[in-house]
Amino acid sequence: MKIHEYQGKQILREYDVAVPRGEPCFSVDEAVGVARDLGGDVWVVKAQIHAGGRGKGGGVKVAKSIDEVKKYADEILGMTLVTHQTGPEGKEVKRLLVEEGADIKDELYVGLVVDRSSQRVVFMASSEGGTEIEKVAEETPEKIHKATIDPGTGLTGEQAKSLAAAIGIPGELVDEAAELFQKLYRAFWEKDASLAEINPLIVTGDGRVLALDAKINFDDNAMYRHPELAELRDLDEEDADEIEAAKYGLNYIALDGNIGCLVNGAGLAMATMDIIKLYGAEPANFLDVGGGATTEQVTEAFKIMLKNERLKAILVNIFGGIMRCDVIAEGLVNAAREVNLKVPLVVRLEGTNVDKGREIIDKSGIEIITATTMADAAEKVSAVAGA
Ligand code: GDP
Ligand code: MN
Repeated sequence: MKIHEYQGKQILREYDVAVPRGEPCFSVDEAVGVARDLGGDVWVVKAQIHAGGRGKGGGVKVAKSIDEVKKYADEILGMTLVTHQTGPEGKEVKRLLVEEGADIKDELYVGLVVDRSSQRVVFMASSEGGTEIEKVAEETPEKIHKATIDPGTGLTGEQAKSLAAAIGIPGELVDEAAELFQKLYRAFWEKDASLAEINPLIVTGDGRVLALDAKINFDDNAMYRHPELAELRDLDEEDADEIEAAKYGLNYIALDGNIGCLVNGAGLAMATMDIIKLYGAEPANFLDVGGGATTEQVTEAFKIMLKNERLKAILVNIFGGIMRCDVIAEGLVNAAREVNLKVPLVVRLEGTNVDKGREIIDKSGIEIITATTMADAAEKVSAVAGA
């Protein structure tokens, strides 16, 4: 699960990580009110969307007067912000963060990720903050310093200090920065985060170390431990079809191709996408209806897939194990009757009661192209989709 920057900073505050003062706003008036309450003479107006690269896209502006705060809030609220992470269609801005302006002396980078190969949390730090860290990793990987964290000790003082020194934090601020790193690690660990990035972490003109940006993702599998995090979910930022699918217990992920896939089991779903590609076509989605798909689930799955204007054909690939093929066939036929199937439907059934299942489909009178093997199914669906 992803959250907004202002929510991430709120969590950091709870862990005593230094962040600028600021408040979220949903209107221009609110933004002006927040700027007045903050006081001072420089503010930053920041678009809140679940994507980075906002600065480059015009979603982060430094305001030198209350009039400018008003002007920028008006510009940014409601704009469609396009960044390298939003895709070309961009994302509409519905929330702002208004903060006190910071006097930036140096922009650095720190981040925490779960490294699957070492099965540990890794702390990364770089002197090259404010830019895309992916570029730094590619062009000057020696400028990224890493520490692998032992879960028994957490990020040690020694590790933290050597990272701080390695990225050029001035000597007199190394202890302060190291403490910030340790607090950041504690927040990451206790909240079951999967990613935390502070880009930039800054050194200010008056000698403080501050988290100027905050990107935190959480492990969905740990959400049951964190009811306080569930409240931070912003459905506006998530794919509407994926939310709808989740309501029916469907694991659905939208993709760019034109062949809808309805499959039981995640492994089979992955294999189905692979074989579709092998036959020169592209899947429109990943969809795992789970082990015990009901008629209702299959119907909803069809409805969600059919909303996609690019859709050229649907491939149903079901292996009847615990789930019997005749039950699935009944569900398919009922679902196909209920929705207006405007694209060709290829069905491959295999497993328990497969003959009964095929018979149900044949007798239904619904136009269904049946396939035997996975390759046969992929070939047929690619052909009808014109790939
Ligand atoms: P991102 O582009 O989505 O990663 O958004 P950031 O929060 O990282 O902001 C982008 C850039 O805006 C930062 O790297 C800074 O250079 C600049 N910026 C953000 N806040 C301030 C501020 O308080 N003062 C100044 N001068 N610049 C800021
Ligand atoms: Mn940033």
